[in-house]
Amino acid sequence: MADFRDLRIVVIGAGMGGLGTALAFAKKGFKQIDVYETASNLGFVGAGIQMPPNVVRVLDRLGVREPIQKEATDVKATSIRQGSTNEELAHVEMPDIAEKYGFPHLLGHRSNLAGSLYEGCKREPAIKFHFSTSLVRVESFSPKPIITLKPRDGPEYQVETDILLASDGIKSVTRTQMLSLLGTSSQEEDTGQAAYRIMLHRSQIAHDPEMVALLDSDTVVRWVGERRHIIAYPVSNHDIYNLSSAHPDTNFASATSATYTTKGSKAQMFEVFKDFCPLVHRMLDLVPDGEVCEWKLRIHRPLPTWVYGSAALVGDACHPTLPHLSQGAAMAIEDGSVLAEVVSRIPADKLNDAETISKTLKVYELLRKPHCSELVDLATHSGRVLHLGEGKAKEERDREFRQNGKTGSVPDKWASPEVQRMIYSNDCVKVAQERFDELFASL
Ligand SMILES: Cc1cc2nc3c(=O)[nH]c(=O)nc-3n(C[C@H](O)[C@H](O)[C@H](O)COP(=O)(O)OP(=O)(O)OC[C@H]3O[C@@H](n4cnc5c(N)ncnc54)[C@H](O)[C@@H]3O)c2cc1C
Repeated sequence: MADFRDLRIVVIGAGMGGLGTALAFAKKGFKQIDVYETASNLGFVGAGIQMPPNVVRVLDRLGVREPIQKEATDVKATSIRQGSTNEELAHVEMPDIAEKYGFPHLLGHRSNLAGSLYEGCKREPAIKFHFSTSLVRVESFSPKPIITLKPRDGPEYQVETDILLASDGIKSVTRTQMLSLLGTSSQEEDTGQAAYRIMLHRSQIAHDPEMVALLDSDTVVRWVGERRHIIAYPVSNHDIYNLSSAHPDTNFASATSATYTTKGSKAQMFEVFKDFCPLVHRMLDLVPDGEVCEWKLRIHRPLPTWVYGSAALVGDACHPTLPHLSQGAAMAIEDGSVLAEVVSRIPADKLNDAETISKTLKVYELLRKPHCSELVDLATHSGRVLHLGEGKAKEERDREFRQNGKTGSVPDKWASPEVQRMIYSNDCVKVAQERFDELFASL
């Protein structure tokens, strides 16, 4: 093999991480990219997603920013409110995100983000999707990864590849196998938290001027209370008001670790937010009976490595996070572009050398793991601070909120200027270009 573009790439999972990875490799000129996905189609949940400037930069490079931005909301401010009273604790203006970081902070519909990435992939002849096909196990990680796949309606078969990229999510089969080979077990962590996800259409709220004002705004609102909060923002050309909560998990606590979503009860949802203000209650009341959806929020103990042989983990498979910093999908999509960048730098005379491939994937890990781990920790920390109950710590937090970020720091790390600077100015591909040689030589 004389050209890096001839390396065969297998991607497991067509979530945000898998789609972003496949597209990034195609944009780099790789000619054979096969994506295997258990589901029969993209089937993304009806929920909103925040796309901070660091990922919009990547989406721009992948050629899919335009259709996403066209119907997304460009955030201009955030309002953090006491859930029980609707009193504003902080109002952080963010009018100049695009000027500061080169790209805006967008709020969109998941189906638009996933659909645009998928359309981008479909325009690339190099990418082949295999839906309804699951990775059963990895037979060998090196020198050439060999995997066993199972189509829904057919017998198992094996595929050999040069590089295996596992973006198979929090339940990653690949991660479990990798860790077992390293003599350690896969340990998901119970966060004790779950999330309701709700979408209210304009027609449902047209009668309520207070809700219409929120839908027409460019503001992210967070209502906080003890051990719970709701974050809400407009998406889909200001036609849908998207709400997502974090609250103590009761439904999943006793369920098996394989259970991640459930139909919730409306009465129970009201019970969880019973001490929240009338505005929140009016919104929750609009959710039709039988349509309350609840998600378990799971994370994983820090992994010893993301790379084994010629395989690497991507996205939630290696750095699942609480959603409080809105960086989970962003990090997954960034991972793919960093991988494509580093793999394209494998020296031409080493393309058949499994050790060099593994070393190159390790550069990806060195580039991404410290950064992603910091963000995962920050999200956990931010959740803890947002969910404080009455007491001295909460009084101090609310005092800091009232400073409105004038000190350069806001207790809600998502809205904190110094955290935004660290995350939003990170151009992951540029960093990979600049640091590849030094990191490769260090291994
Ligand atoms: C309530 C909530 C709000 C969030 N808000 C935000 C936000 O605003 N911004 C943000 O950036 N992130 C957010 N996130 C995080 C984000 O959704 C995830 O981090 C991201 O979707 C992970 O993408 P992924 O591709 O790594 O994994 P997944 O989306 O889990 O995709 C994995 C894919 O692999 C497939 N798969 C699994 N196993 C196999 C197998 N054996 N064979 C074949 N296919 C397989 C699955 O079917 C799935 O399609 C939020 C998360 C939650 C829960």
